[in-house]
Amino acid sequence: EALDTDTRKLTDKRNKILGESYRLFYRNPVHLVRGEGQYLWDAFGTKYLDVYNNVASIGHCHPAVIDAVNAQMKMLNTHTRYLHEGILDYTEQLLTTFPQEINRAMYMCTGSEANDLAIRIARQYSGGTGIIVSQEAYHGTSDLTSGCSPALGTGQTLANTTRLVPAPDAYRVNTPDLGEWFAQQIQTQIDDMKVHGIKFAGFLADSIFSSDGVMPNPIGFLKKAVDVVHANGGIFIADEVQPGFGRTGDAFWGFARHGVVPDVVTTGKPMGNGIPVSGLFAKSDVLSAFSDQTPYFNTFGGNPVAMAAAQAVFKVIQEEQLQAHSKKVGTLLQAELTKLMNKYECVGDVRGAGLFIGFEIVKDRISKEPNKAFALDLIEELRNTHHVLTSVAGPYGNVLKLRPPFAFQEYDIDWLVGALDKSIAKLQG
Ligand code: PMP
Repeated sequence: EALDTDTRKLTDKRNKILGESYRLFYRNPVHLVRGEGQYLWDAFGTKYLDVYNNVASIGHCHPAVIDAVNAQMKMLNTHTRYLHEGILDYTEQLLTTFPQEINRAMYMCTGSEANDLAIRIARQYSGGTGIIVSQEAYHGTSDLTSGCSPALGTGQTLANTTRLVPAPDAYRVNTPDLGEWFAQQIQTQIDDMKVHGIKFAGFLADSIFSSDGVMPNPIGFLKKAVDVVHANGGIFIADEVQPGFGRTGDAFWGFARHGVVPDVVTTGKPMGNGIPVSGLFAKSDVLSAFSDQTPYFNTFGGNPVAMAAAQAVFKVIQEEQLQAHSKKVGTLLQAELTKLMNKYECVGDVRGAGLFIGFEIVKDRISKEPNKAFALDLIEELRNTHHVLTSVAGPYGNVLKLRPPFAFQEYDIDWLVGALDKSIAKLQG
């Protein structure tokens, strides 16, 4: 399929002057020029429904963030070695969302940096090095975090201290007690570390297992796993980059759905609605094992402008009750998607929490054989014909990840579900 001239020009230029690791979405790449709320516009003026971007979590170009950043940028932007109220005000507010034991905050610019520091803290606190992550986990770009990110594929060598557990996949794992099963997987890997002379340091997990294909349920399944982690002297690091900030609807943090208290929590993506800001929140005794030895300074992390953005985001989530909104609209959307599952054999499973939904495409319901090719054709059809933007996740690349900005409204469900309905019907021929 021939690309339009402008699209071809930009694509060629990228290929020529950007690093080759960059990957574009779509066979016909989208050239976006503007965003507002849940909608995006491309260079041709076509309007798209964004069902994927959880960074612009409170909506693209939200005026509250623009105004807060603009005002602070005009006043001052410097680093955390001078006193400033912004970082303290935000921290006081955000700490109210955590269990009491989590009472210390640090700031960086990316989820990768937060997880990188979390791994260093786990090692310092435990005296070990071994880190457990899920089979298809992604935790970041740094050496430590990419060494714990099997999602990067065979080109990325995992650290020899990294151990993988299969994802807690309620759709595919046949067990009466997923929590017990998952806890056993953790124990098996800790035992394997011992055999290889590696001391266990911690379990690092995205509590909604986004890159494993979105695994939110059953609520509470993480509890036994976290108990095993603690019984073996390790810490639990909750990577809240994806499920945090009200996304799941059930709780402000993904871990809270499971009734567990992490030792360290890392955040990123939606925290600043696009302004690079991330955080690490920890129990003070766990953190001090690291901080007492080692200074930490992050040039841009926690600066007044980043904190102004984060504070504006938090305020909007609270004032507009976006967690409740995510729950309500997400539940309605899931119900409509479930109707599609009942209509089409190729939709094997619909699962989610709030506006974070996995829509799994299979060859048939009995074999549950993943149908990656169909899932990819489906997201192309959604983009080309219906102007709906989303993507796939999971080890087989067959799970559509539906995770729109909270600006997504009840009236947008028709656009999305209608598009899915027509696209699946068309592709089935
Ligand atoms: N953890 C998870 C679960 C993520 O999804 C990501 C980003 N996709 C990261 C960490 C890394 O965040 P960043 O890209 O901001 O470094």
